[in-house]
Amino acid sequence: MAPRFQAPRGTRDLLPEDLGRWQWAEERARGVLERYGYREIRTPLFEDFELFARTSGESSDVVQKEMYRFQDLGERDLALRPEFTAGVMRAYLEHGLGGRTRIHRLWSAGPVFRYGRPQKGRYRQFSQVNCELVGSAAPGADVEMITLFVDLYQAWGFRDLTVVLNSVGQPASRRDYGERLRAWLAPVRERLSADSQQRLVANPLRVLDTKDAGDLALFRERGELPRMLDAIDAADRAHWDAVLAGLDAVGIAYEVDHGLVRGLDYYTRTAFEVHDRALGAQSALGGGGRYDGLIAELGGPPTPGVGFAIGLDRALLVLEERGAAVPAPAAGVYVAAMESTRTAALALARALRRRFPVELDIEERAFGAQMKSAGRSGARLLLIVGEEEWGRGEVVVKDLASHTQETLARAGLEAALAARLAQAPPDPPAAGARGAHRTETP
Ligand code: AMP
Repeated sequence: MAPRFQAPRGTRDLLPEDLGRWQWAEERARGVLERYGYREIRTPLFEDFELFARTSGESSDVVQKEMYRFQDLGERDLALRPEFTAGVMRAYLEHGLGGRTRIHRLWSAGPVFRYGRPQKGRYRQFSQVNCELVGSAAPGADVEMITLFVDLYQAWGFRDLTVVLNSVGQPASRRDYGERLRAWLAPVRERLSADSQQRLVANPLRVLDTKDAGDLALFRERGELPRMLDAIDAADRAHWDAVLAGLDAVGIAYEVDHGLVRGLDYYTRTAFEVHDRALGAQSALGGGGRYDGLIAELGGPPTPGVGFAIGLDRALLVLEERGAAVPAPAAGVYVAAMESTRTAALALARALRRRFPVELDIEERAFGAQMKSAGRSGARLLLIVGEEEWGRGEVVVKDLASHTQETLARAGLEAALAARLAQAPPDPPAAGARGAHRTETP
């Protein structure tokens, strides 16, 4: 019989066996972020709908079609966050962070929600790692952000990633560019998808987001795309040149993509993304850019910022497809008891759990059954709390990897176990002899 309830469309359960990879990725990311001096900030999963409408742009896909918008019982107009930046900037203003120090480096990670059509690498609830560098308009801030962006992927084992970059200018130069785009597409306007025709009127840059195969063929028919870089002013051009020089200096490979405009309206100047072809249509692994107008848009003092979001689901999907190994969980200790030493074993396990992963039978099963469980548990050490040994203040310790056995005193046991757990296990058995380590019943 099919289960009565299933996870809502576009959402997934991450089972314990999936989470090893997630936790490893999150830990690696946390390490990189800390070394770059970024501090974590946690904001609510939902905010006023208006906050997202204001920052992402009324005509963006996210606001128009993808928002989980709802009214609570107090009739507030709310939405699940479709991205982090708006909430983080709301918090930045609400707590007056800008008045404390000029530059803030902030990161967050967690679920975001978009009502899109689910497919491989595209979910309605997915996870992002998000970073913001608020308070500096210097090209060095963009360079730091892009370097951090690449270093996060490198910490996960990605190699040879190429960042694609563009400048999206300022609102005025974007309007100018929008006109060039309209003129460029005028000869094929009637043949564009209905969506793109609408966008061409409301917000022409958004046409470049199209995934429609017919639209893309028409772009190719038109030849070379007008370049945003030809429309930006001298100050934006100088900024752009300085960012590229900085990336060259740190050795980050990049390509300029004249069609890169990003999905949200608040970007200014630098925009960047990274793609991986293994993902097919949903190839974007992450992206970001500068948003110098965003904080003022929210009613704050004009404050520059630059940030990015990395899609964790997609990054992990790629690593999984490549068969990247997940580090095994730390091997620990299995405590086995006799009928007469169960309470002693229970207390011992509790004490050892202050330092080590410890497994213990909770069903008062026979010794043989405990031995079988120990063999399957993945524990490195088996502690046998035998009646006689325990009476002498000792336990028997078997190393399940090297099959050696010794009797150790309870006093000082923690240090002795730590030393043994830290030893590298012997070489794995040759092919053909693989499988769980066998434990013999004493
Ligand atoms: P964006 O804010 O749209 O640039 O998204 C940043 C990253 O989040 C993208 O590059 C993707 O890796 C990821 N992402 C965006 N939408 C989805 C989705 N529906 N499902 C899974 N990952 C997504």
